Amino acid sequence: MTHDHHRQIRSAVLGFPRIGARRELKFAAEAFWRGDSDDTALDDIAAQLRTRHWRAMRQRGIDVIPSNDFSFYDQMLDMIALLGAIPQRYGWRPGQPVDHKTYFACARGTDTAPAMEMTKWFDTNYHYIVPEFDDATAFSLARQTPLNMWREAKALGIDTRPVLIGPLTFLLLGKSKTEGVEPLSLLPRLLPVYEKLLAALKGAGVDWVQIDEPILVTDLPDGAADAFRTAYETLAPAAPKIMLTTYFDRLGDNLDLAADLPVAGLHLDCLRGASDAPYIAERLDGAKTLSLGLVDGRNIWRTDLERQLATARKLAGAHDGDIEIATSCSLLHVPVDLSLEKKLDPELQSWLAFATQKLDEVSTLARGLRDGSDTISAALAASTEAARARADSPYTTNPDVRARLKGLDDSAWHRASPFARRRTAQADLGLPPLPTTTIGSFPQTGDVRKARAAHRRGDMSDDAYDAFLKQETEATIRRQEQLGIDVLVHGEFERTDMVEYFGEKLEGFAFTGNGWVQSFGSRCVRPPVIFGDVSRPAPMTVDWARYAQSLTGKPVKGMLTGPITILHWSFVRDDQPRADTCKQIALAIRDEVVDLEAAGIRIIQIDEPAVREGLPLRQKDQQAYLDWAVGCFRLSASGVEDRTQIHTHMCYSEFNDIMDSIAAFDADVISIETSRSDMELLSVFSNFRYPNDIGPGIWDIHSPRVPDADEIERLIGKAAEVIDPAQLWINPDCGLKTRGWPEVEASLTNMVTAAKAARAQL
Ligand code: GLN
Ligand code: ZN
Repeated sequence: MTHDHHRQIRSAVLGFPRIGARRELKFAAEAFWRGDSDDTALDDIAAQLRTRHWRAMRQRGIDVIPSNDFSFYDQMLDMIALLGAIPQRYGWRPGQPVDHKTYFACARGTDTAPAMEMTKWFDTNYHYIVPEFDDATAFSLARQTPLNMWREAKALGIDTRPVLIGPLTFLLLGKSKTEGVEPLSLLPRLLPVYEKLLAALKGAGVDWVQIDEPILVTDLPDGAADAFRTAYETLAPAAPKIMLTTYFDRLGDNLDLAADLPVAGLHLDCLRGASDAPYIAERLDGAKTLSLGLVDGRNIWRTDLERQLATARKLAGAHDGDIEIATSCSLLHVPVDLSLEKKLDPELQSWLAFATQKLDEVSTLARGLRDGSDTISAALAASTEAARARADSPYTTNPDVRARLKGLDDSAWHRASPFARRRTAQADLGLPPLPTTTIGSFPQTGDVRKARAAHRRGDMSDDAYDAFLKQETEATIRRQEQLGIDVLVHGEFERTDMVEYFGEKLEGFAFTGNGWVQSFGSRCVRPPVIFGDVSRPAPMTVDWARYAQSLTGKPVKGMLTGPITILHWSFVRDDQPRADTCKQIALAIRDEVVDLEAAGIRIIQIDEPAVREGLPLRQKDQQAYLDWAVGCFRLSASGVEDRTQIHTHMCYSEFNDIMDSIAAFDADVISIETSRSDMELLSVFSNFRYPNDIGPGIWDIHSPRVPDADEIERLIGKAAEVIDPAQLWINPDCGLKTRGWPEVEASLTNMVTAAKAARAQL
């Protein structure tokens, strides 16, 4: 630990949101897709955004500025295009340029070629396009985008560090369509293309590249460690200096692997991977640059500069080489600029930092480490004051909520009786075998959206809007009655979004006006901010459920979003464990469940589509998460009597490795997505001997196609082969809000016809 030599301390950003502070890229891309603009118009907006973002970074004192972090849709799709890995069905052939049309065809599909698969990027809410491999997969350097981007910045007088996704993350996140062709086996074909790409950058004078290998924070498959060594031994000699980045979790058992790769620098996520940092700081060769990701790229809280400066000092003290102070990951996952928020509570606002504000934090920390804390004393004082104000604020704590959680006894965490007894108690619902239902929402038509917008603008009075929603609800109840559905829903017309609706009614939540974050392509979301203890001041859905129930003799299912999903789709406070925040949300939902029961609602669905995506990246962390997640669901669901039937709904249904926990939810009925897999997913429930009732989706609602009755009957038959028909419900895959009424009526008519036919066979 010698400090007498001169080492460099730089500030670095791993990536900046590309969508634009006013979602310029979204609107430009959508205009292009509609045919309302052309390549040049789209390229112009993109270039303006890049220029604006590079300049903001330079102006705010960032030394290491990324390029090629921009993307028209997704950075994985950019790599697919760059590496010439475009599936055959899009008609592109090696040697041709990959134009916008081809690129967007991969992302969005065409009349003749379905889109490439999309899935969540690690445990974030961002979706990437999944590389597809088969026995014909060949790679070629199909673009020079990283070099062009670097030159574009250079022409503005800004030196940048191009960002690439590394070869192992690229392959291991991909999927093979050919049996026997393992993605990893493609490495020898892929490496020469990376080599060529990196050599071109080096030849042009690029000093550093950033290569992202977040796959290093996951449990690697056999052979991956060797593949890593081979890859970087091959690439390093041809490449500019490589800053290898990992983020989103600890390196864990890949620590030594990462530390020893022949690269010039290693970046750690010092928030989610905090426990790795001291070891790496000691272990890393002093000739390498250590990049410390100390400013959170996944959340919107202001950095406690004092604390992070102390961490930086300690870690820098253990490492002899150069240091970078960086964002933990790309800033892609946070909104662009807090200063555009005009309606947030000023106190809350003073606790937050979006991407733009985080630039200041990174450069301030680097300056403090380099030049001494005196040089940043004003920033330190302000940050410490904000941290103190937040810690002491009465807004963040609600003693009643805390006392209530502490006082819960064991009975709060499970239903009073086992499923068999509950089922008997629920028999008076009088449902036929194979009961039919839907997942909750009905089409959010242009009329519904128009009325909502008018109400929001103030052009429609509360009373008029309320009357409109009632009318929609009544019409929907009547339609379900006419269709002959057994368990009805009110249709969710009053909800914009399944999390926002509840967040707006709960204490402890705040909403931004412009806090957009890219979810996929041009699609952005505005996650609520959970800043304080959560409670439910008043019923949230009871009036709607009661009204809907008053219209019909059939049971109406109450409809709630569950605590795990509300948690995952929000920015969550970082001053207490996520599990504690989730329990508070669970208590609020529990109050709603109990009130629905008291209002005469016999069936209540608590949606939990986000359970699976919240799963920690490392297997050994998963059970602990599942345990508290299950606990929270049960806490929300267990305040009711045996005779009240609790449903849950989960979409993305990869359940094989978590069946114990799914069963532990102990919902009376679970509905899942299965139609696209032709009921295949149901076998997981059957092999597990899933004890409670289950509604496998019989209609893929993601497509406008109307399934005919025979097809649905066949699916029901398939389901009945693996699950006792006494346990089976009949329903679509998911909510119907994105569909049109004609398809909905036709499909549900066929669903009811098929269910009746299947009943006759029992
Ligand atoms: N009840 C919700 C709906 O029908 C469920 C949505 C979801 O699972 N994502 O829209
Ligand atoms: Zn769903």
